[in-house]
Amino acid sequence: MEIRRPVRKPKPKKKPARVSRTPKKSPGTDPKRVRAILAKLDEAYPSVTCALEHRNPFELLIATILSAQCTDVRVNEVTKTLFRKYPTPEALAYAHPLELQQEIRPTGFFRNKTKSVMGASKKIVEEFSGAVPRTMEQLLTLPGVARKTANVVLGTAFGIAAGVVVDTHVQRVSRRLDLTRQTEPKKIELDLMRVVPREKWILFSHQLIWHGRRVCQARKPRCMECNLERLCYSKDKTV
Ligand code: SF4
Repeated sequence: MEIRRPVRKPKPKKKPARVSRTPKKSPGTDPKRVRAILAKLDEAYPSVTCALEHRNPFELLIATILSAQCTDVRVNEVTKTLFRKYPTPEALAYAHPLELQQEIRPTGFFRNKTKSVMGASKKIVEEFSGAVPRTMEQLLTLPGVARKTANVVLGTAFGIAAGVVVDTHVQRVSRRLDLTRQTEPKKIELDLMRVVPREKWILFSHQLIWHGRRVCQARKPRCMECNLERLCYSKDKTV
């Protein structure tokens, strides 16, 4: 007698697991949470602005160029005499480079900063009729000016919200608050522009800078004094 063996069906091939290409949305950017953070910042810093002393957009531009890798206090000390000696874009554009270097020296990186200050002033005189341009695109054509400086000038001097100022404080605090997980300033700025309403961009930048200086300091954040503490789950927390 013939024994019939059951016919085995071939096992269906396993489908490869689908890999999502969209990065996981950070829980930190939940709109309700972001609104709560903004409210707390408004509470703590209702009307903060740029700490660089200036009398007009040009002085703010020069002070911001000088503030790279330097404290605002030191820059303010230097610009007090600098702007007296060189009160106009023309005066800085055609200054004697070695003399200018000595004036700028206390702010560090003084050779490069002298080049940027003179180059930006010259371009303003020769291509913008002596006035600081009011668009991001034009500002970025000035030597020594990147998005951070341009955002400071547009926001503080002209009240134009073209982006968010991302300096070292904004980088650190926005990451600790999980508003971004990026590390590059440009990408951080894009994230912040996405989660913070445009009408808040200018004030928000200054608020994070002040919070970073006073409370959420790099080495030892003063979380006990932080009014955002209940909303913050950073691994850097000290409480
Ligand atoms: S709780 Fe601490 S780490 Fe978080 S924002 Fe405040 S100071 Fe910074």
